[in-house]
Amino acid sequence: MHPYASSDPGILKQEHLVNAALQIRSGRLLVFLSILSRLTVVVLLCALALLTEYLNLKIAYNHPRLVELSSGKAMRMFYEAADTVFSKFGDPMQLAQTNGGMTWSIRLMGVPFTDPIAALSVLAKDHRMKLGFALGLTAPLALALLFGRAFCAYICPASLLFYFISRIRRWLSRWFYFPELSIHRGFSWGVLAGGIGVAVWTGHGIWTLILPYFAVGQTVFHGIAMGTLSIALGSILLFACLDFFFGRQFTCRYVCPTGRLLGFVGQKSLFSIRRNAQECLTSCNSCAEVCPMKVSPKLDQSVDCSVCGECLVICPTQCLSIGIRKVVSIPSHVASPIPERIHGSPPQSL
Ligand code: SF4
Ligand code: SF4
Ligand code: SF4
Repeated sequence: MHPYASSDPGILKQEHLVNAALQIRSGRLLVFLSILSRLTVVVLLCALALLTEYLNLKIAYNHPRLVELSSGKAMRMFYEAADTVFSKFGDPMQLAQTNGGMTWSIRLMGVPFTDPIAALSVLAKDHRMKLGFALGLTAPLALALLFGRAFCAYICPASLLFYFISRIRRWLSRWFYFPELSIHRGFSWGVLAGGIGVAVWTGHGIWTLILPYFAVGQTVFHGIAMGTLSIALGSILLFACLDFFFGRQFTCRYVCPTGRLLGFVGQKSLFSIRRNAQECLTSCNSCAEVCPMKVSPKLDQSVDCSVCGECLVICPTQCLSIGIRKVVSIPSHVASPIPERIHGSPPQSL
């Protein structure tokens, strides 16, 4: 039996109250939060790039006059402005050292965050991992175990780009035909295996071309900290074209190995999309049609759900919510066949 299920009526009532309290029904709130949080991540990436540049100047010169002599007046102005801002929060040098990094591995207030693909790549190439790097996996894995692919809808900066491309597609589809192509979802496992193979052979840099959010992070870093264009911009354009011409969030559904890996880890996540079958309309399929991940809440599917909330917005009866995963348990001694559902189709097995 599931740890959140009980046969005692009193406990069942308490569980129901807890579950109801932990349910989110406002899809608009989730969509708003997902855009806001991803915009925050983009700002954070810009800030980390600035911080890295500032740290380099600190280590190399540690004086505005020397910064100007070596890198020009604009850099001196940046250095002095950063000095002023950072000194309000403590020692600028210490602040710059305890916060930094790239999408590969980031430290915020001294806490490490490691990308799971980066960890796999390091493990495959070096056959070992530093403790701090490994500990950085705690947050992303815990997020997947709690909320499935929430990283995709709330953190990944590339998905913000794909979100806006899907909106442009939708708007243009009034006049033009846009296909919704599908390929086997296992393709992204192949991308992961191929990427690790190339990383072992040539080095980890290949991931900045394969992982869309690495490409975004690299492009931001090059643009801000070095004032140059990164080759990763080519990857971003390629992924953008895939999404625009092949299908909504095509890259996320079929190419990006991170999404696949997080979907796999979080396939039994504690929180997931929930449907009240009694209120679901037989003639409706809006939730499945609107889902950018091609998940069908109507069929009680939840694997690959990023809890973005778009289906909650469109559901005409408001019978969808995000809450503690429902557990359907049928006692083995029940001899009668499973009753036919009046609303919706049978649940898809995970
Ligand atoms: S599948 Fe990859 S690119 Fe898409 S949102 Fe998730 S992590 Fe980002
Ligand atoms: S089922 Fe699809 S639309 Fe609904 S929350 Fe999950 S990913 Fe978003
Ligand atoms: S869950 Fe809502 S949107 Fe989905 S089929 Fe049922 S009524 Fe329609």
